Amino acid sequence: MASAKALIGSVLGRFVFHDVSVTRVRDIAPRFRWVEFEGPALRDEHWEAGDKVQVFLPETGMRTYTPLAWDAQKGSTAFLVYLHGSSPGASWGRGLRVGERAQFFGPRRSLSLGDASGPVVFFGDETSFGVAHALKSASAKRNVTCVFEVSQRAESSAVLSELGFEGSDVERTAGDSHLAEVHERLRGALLANPNAQFVMTGKAQSIQALKTRLKAEGLGRSAKVKAYWSVGKTGLD
Ligand SMILES: Cc1cc2nc3c(=O)[nH]c(=O)nc-3n(C[C@H](O)[C@H](O)[C@H](O)COP(=O)(O)OP(=O)(O)OC[C@H]3O[C@@H](n4cnc5c(N)ncnc54)[C@H](O)[C@@H]3O)c2cc1C
Repeated sequence: MASAKALIGSVLGRFVFHDVSVTRVRDIAPRFRWVEFEGPALRDEHWEAGDKVQVFLPETGMRTYTPLAWDAQKGSTAFLVYLHGSSPGASWGRGLRVGERAQFFGPRRSLSLGDASGPVVFFGDETSFGVAHALKSASAKRNVTCVFEVSQRAESSAVLSELGFEGSDVERTAGDSHLAEVHERLRGALLANPNAQFVMTGKAQSIQALKTRLKAEGLGRSAKVKAYWSVGKTGLD
């Protein structure tokens, strides 16, 4: 049975959602899909790198993704969808075909960084590759140093090299012992770029653990933090 959120969404949706069609689907790696969308309603929208879009899934409610770019003249955008499992958002991403329709809410502000050319130190995971790409593409001059925790390096590396973030991935380990290496890399980047904006995205539990460690060392106090998912929670935003 459809949830209350989904029912409200379907009623409100007729007024506030943007109707789009899938125009291209590219499987960059087995669990990473680059999906392009187009629709007249996407024209003339104001979009900034770091903004989010919520996708309405009729049986479920909303799931959040990050536009990689936005063409307001043509009315098109694209997401990099990580197919982490068989939950509603991942299943939606896996099932998308050219010509299929979808409903969007947004773009809306999520990670607004202001000065487009200042350096950024960025932490995230597979769900954050898209926003890191958008932030980097916003200015050719911007220096973005990324550290991503990933479930399978073999798979993520191909995607990261396509996006120009080679070597920025650290593979997750049982018990999260990999966070020691993530912490070391972030610490080094923050010390080397004291004026950088620090952005933390991805898994809530990793953000929390890293933030605590860095804070104890006097680093990353003014981090912009946005958890993208949390163990056991659904549709986090
Ligand atoms: C602002 C914002 C921007 C985002 N941008 C993107 C994006 O561009 N691309 C993208 O792929 N995702 C993105 N996400 C993350 C995505 O919205 C979540 O992963 C969401 O939970 C997916 O919905 P779902 O229905 O697949 O899983 P849910 O039904 O929400 O969750 C089901 C279960 O899966 C777990 N889970 C959720 N995500 C992951 C994961 N990545 N790895 C392992 N387990 C997970 C949850 O903890 C939960 O237990 C973004 C999230 C936010 C808040």
